Amino acid sequence: MIIVLKAKTSEEDLKRVVDLAKSFGFETNISKGAEKTIVGIIGERVYERREVFEALNCVEEVIPVLKPFKLVSREFHPEKTIIECGDEKIGEKFQFIAGPCAVESRDQMQREAEFLSNLGVKFLRGGAFKPRTSPYSFQGLGIEGLKILREVGDKYNMKVVSEMMSPEDLSLFEEYVDVIQIGTRNMQNYRLLEKVGHSTKPVILKRGFMSTIEEWLLAAEYLYYHGNSQIILCERGIRTFEKYTRNTLDIAAVPLVKILSHLPIIVDLSHATGRRDLIPPLSKAVVAAGADGVMIEVHENPENALSDGQQSLNFDEFYKTYDSSMELIRVMEEI
Ligand code: PEP
Ligand code: MN
Repeated sequence: MIIVLKAKTSEEDLKRVVDLAKSFGFETNISKGAEKTIVGIIGERVYERREVFEALNCVEEVIPVLKPFKLVSREFHPEKTIIECGDEKIGEKFQFIAGPCAVESRDQMQREAEFLSNLGVKFLRGGAFKPRTSPYSFQGLGIEGLKILREVGDKYNMKVVSEMMSPEDLSLFEEYVDVIQIGTRNMQNYRLLEKVGHSTKPVILKRGFMSTIEEWLLAAEYLYYHGNSQIILCERGIRTFEKYTRNTLDIAAVPLVKILSHLPIIVDLSHATGRRDLIPPLSKAVVAAGADGVMIEVHENPENALSDGQQSLNFDEFYKTYDSSMELIRVMEEI
């Protein structure tokens, strides 16, 4: 960590900085320039003391040298992590996670699962507790929705994924789902992260719609720190000034996260733009960018969906997207 002192800092203040560093057991390295003095602070986990130095009046800036996340970083764990979910894996071959935004009924989920599993899709998604922006929108079927998801998943031999919103629901989710999803609105809900950190279930951690990649990786660090290393990162678009799309898909996050972290990364193509017509080309873009999978909302009749119909593909559209993405995957494997 580097500490830049304000111009004309007295020797007395410089000594205070050095003594403070020593009190934490750190080494220091002082460099005096014509205008300013900088102090290098060397030691284990120096970043944990960052705020203490920032609070000093004589300090102009504190510049970290190491990244603030450790457990999820490539430096800590050079090999890529592969998440095991029963007999399926995420991080090895490209995976499709598909299904409706919300579980609406047993019959609906039955038809969805039948269609998707026949194509070869192994992960079925469906929200039971829905984080809707308006309290007047469909809120999901709750526990009933989780039960339907489990029943249908078992029948078609699919792994099921659903969003958990509240820390109190952990035992329910451990009973009914294979993968716990933490949604964009809850990426920085630290009580929730801590709770899911105590679970052994794999977790899909969506990127907060207003979060930087560093904040997102720090949220993943929370899960890891509390004991859950089975993390799948999910880019789902961020809020920008652009209005033609619901969110802006940060496709650069895919290769960048792969450089910074050993965790697998998938992309939610439905929430990324909020437009179903953009899903087919973006699916190929995401394959080419090196993602480990995609999440896509699929509904037998998107026009009648209880939520997010505008960004859901119907069966025929999903089939075409799946097929063309698989073709690209095969081409890339041959290169
Ligand atoms: C969802 O996947 O249904 C969802 C609500 O996603 P997000 O948290 O990315 O908005
Ligand atoms: Mn949705």
